[in-house]
Amino acid sequence: MIPRTVPTWQIKSWQEELKQLIQNPKTLIDRLQLDREWLEPAEKAARHFPLRLTESYFSRIRPGDPHDPLLRQVLPLGEELEAAPGYDKDPLDESRFNPVPGLVHKYRSRVLLIAATQCAINCRYCFRRHFPYEDNQLSRPEWQAALDYVRQAPEVNEVILSGGDPLSLGDKHLAWLVQQIADITHIKRLRIHSRYPVILPTRITDELVGAVSHPRLRTVMVMHCNHPQEIDEEVGRGVATLVRAGIQVLNQSVLLKKINDNSRILATLSESLFDIGVQPYYLHLLDKVEGAAHFAVSDEDAKTLYGELLTLLPGYLVPKLVRETPHEGSKTPVSPA
Ligand code: SF4
Repeated sequence: MIPRTVPTWQIKSWQEELKQLIQNPKTLIDRLQLDREWLEPAEKAARHFPLRLTESYFSRIRPGDPHDPLLRQVLPLGEELEAAPGYDKDPLDESRFNPVPGLVHKYRSRVLLIAATQCAINCRYCFRRHFPYEDNQLSRPEWQAALDYVRQAPEVNEVILSGGDPLSLGDKHLAWLVQQIADITHIKRLRIHSRYPVILPTRITDELVGAVSHPRLRTVMVMHCNHPQEIDEEVGRGVATLVRAGIQVLNQSVLLKKINDNSRILATLSESLFDIGVQPYYLHLLDKVEGAAHFAVSDEDAKTLYGELLTLLPGYLVPKLVRETPHEGSKTPVSPA
């Protein structure tokens, strides 16, 4: 694990850190001492999908290296503005599975609630980078309509809180929501999809654990980490807090060109995750969202590196290589070459 990158005295509360996100491309480029040639394309691309990252994540980026694998996940690039055939704004056709605002029902036994409409980071490859969050920002009555939908769907036994990032919500709101979900008797599991354990580990507190735990529900946290350099001591501390409370922590990654498309990097990622108590879960092929084509790894290369990964790790540390295809009843496993 990479040692703590921010001295203890500099660690702020998560609310303070959220108020101080890095959102100006010039600030990012200047602070990392990058060449000025990166600025104009970054400003242009950020007009379409803003730059956003936390100081905590910033502290793990190597200064002076425009190819740093963490920087490449957040730095807007000119390539995002180039049209690519087959890439569109809603690659998973989610608008067809949005029966009431704030709820996506794609798979039979689980529904996804768009619990929050923002993240503390904007990952450049995000498949929801064009999602109409403004139409899915819920008032209390709309929350009730989404929960009513779940109440009337007895085949659903798992609710996924997603977004945006659900941990952008305060603990009180989360506790209210979890209680509403727990009151629906056919729901057995609560799953939370969040990048906060990685990008803002101070968000993981005992109060948060209290808010998302309920004696009637099994709580699972699926975090999102793509590269071993993202894991430092603070990330380990946050995960330990979750694990101590009995929350199962899984990880999903996206296979990204020039970031983690290398079997040794992926093997180190799985080892590092397991060391802190996280079970590798999925390795996703990129969803074909407009603006992200430069991150795509070909199927052939993905299958080859996955075959290598199988030889480098025990089976229980190998995430499932999958692709999501709109209108399929589940994720589609991709076999090694
Ligand atoms: S944290 Fe997840 S939802 Fe938010 S921008 Fe990144 S990939 Fe998208």
